[in-house]
Amino acid sequence: MAGALDDTICGIATPPGEGGVGIVRLSGSHAVEIAATLAKLRSGLSLASTRNHTLYLADVTLPVHGSDGPAGSNQEVVGDEALIVVMRGPRSFTGEDVVEFHCHGGALILNTVCEAIIAAGGRLAEPGEFTKRAFLNGRLDLAQAEAVLDTIRAKTTGSLRVAQAQRRGVLSGEIEGIRGDLVTALAHVEAALDFSEEDITFVGRAELVALLVAMSGRLTRLLETARDGRILREGATVAIVGRPNVGKSSLLNALTSTDRAIVTAIPGTTRDVLDEWLNIQGIPVRLLDTAGIRETHDPVEQEGIERSHRAVEDADAVLAVFDGSLPLEESDRSVLNTLQSKRSVIVVNKSDLSSRLDLTELQASGGEQRPVVRLSARTGTGLPQLRDHIRSSILRQGFEPNDGLYVANLRHITSLRSAQEGLTHALAALDDQLSGEFVAADLRMAADALGEITGAISTDDILNRIFSEFCIGK
Ligand code: GDP
Repeated sequence: MAGALDDTICGIATPPGEGGVGIVRLSGSHAVEIAATLAKLRSGLSLASTRNHTLYLADVTLPVHGSDGPAGSNQEVVGDEALIVVMRGPRSFTGEDVVEFHCHGGALILNTVCEAIIAAGGRLAEPGEFTKRAFLNGRLDLAQAEAVLDTIRAKTTGSLRVAQAQRRGVLSGEIEGIRGDLVTALAHVEAALDFSEEDITFVGRAELVALLVAMSGRLTRLLETARDGRILREGATVAIVGRPNVGKSSLLNALTSTDRAIVTAIPGTTRDVLDEWLNIQGIPVRLLDTAGIRETHDPVEQEGIERSHRAVEDADAVLAVFDGSLPLEESDRSVLNTLQSKRSVIVVNKSDLSSRLDLTELQASGGEQRPVVRLSARTGTGLPQLRDHIRSSILRQGFEPNDGLYVANLRHITSLRSAQEGLTHALAALDDQLSGEFVAADLRMAADALGEITGAISTDDILNRIFSEFCIGK
């Protein structure tokens, strides 16, 4: 991302394809001047004298060249009627002068507007460059900028709540609070070093230890939200396992009400891992249908079984499916064996048929302590209960997604862990009566780790990694 910051950039802000309205966004010091070369306001007002954040009706004239226009010419021959809004910096998303063209939503129109802007001195924005500028101009910190992307990508109301809280600065506030305390503690330690004859008695060792322990407690509480936060942001993965023909594909279909997985009566025909997204009471859940776990000599099927073992290992929770219309088989027992300590729900399927599965035997074979749901993938009986059990198997007891404080992003979690490690080392150094220099170095490391979350400390590398995930117009 090498684009100069003083360039005026443009990008299509609406998704590709046809729509009622399509928006081209322009940001930078020449935004108004460039926009004025292609837009004439119906009111006769010049673009430079428009009111901030106010929509004006305009005629946009666009140069058409190549085969669309008269040979070799660059005449302004087509146009569109658009609404134009000027948002002057610093009161704009990027903090710079921003102009938006709300045109008719067709790819040709929007691309031609961009081309005209480029011809007038603008350049095409790189992915995430608008948001990056908002960050560099102090409109958002880094965690808030990341939350813009999370907001766009949110799959359920739970994910959206976490993203919005982060975008509003709930997480950043807590992080900056802890970092502020850390920097104060560091200042005391460094001051004591400057007057080393007097030893570290500036705040008092005991007082410093108490301060660091309190900060460490705040970090621990934040890290405790990480599992739920990550599940809300990225979704939980739930694997469906069971021997062939128990109804795994049918269950996936019943839960998603689609025909995505192929249902057949021939055992072992689901050879790959299929997945579908579900919204379970506001929680995004990725449901994996795995190949049947059983002994087989078919290499294709064996590969599928390998994958289903891996899917179980990686899953946040497992649905172990059994055929309620048949007695327990040896292969059912091996399914139970794969569960080990996994969070799992025992699903006894085909409840529409007469029951021949001995539940006591099932539980004695490794199913004890796990919730059991009897259902019919065919009729849908029992599915609501299964949804409740899936939810409670992936989230903490009594957990309700709210607008509060969550750490949801792996980058933040990693930084928090480094900060926690720095604090632990600092406390150990104090305990071992080591020189204040060691304590200071550990505290500095912890403070820097927290600074990386909000971007108070940032490198080009971190910024590039974050903003390259965005789309062009964002
Ligand atoms: P998988 O191999 O575990 O994925 O099993 P499938 O979903 O392919 O189902 C195997 C067979 O069981 C198919 O013939 C399904 O129609 C049937 N089946 C699945 N669920 C039910 C159910 O709840 N009731 C009845 N009666 N049959 C079912």
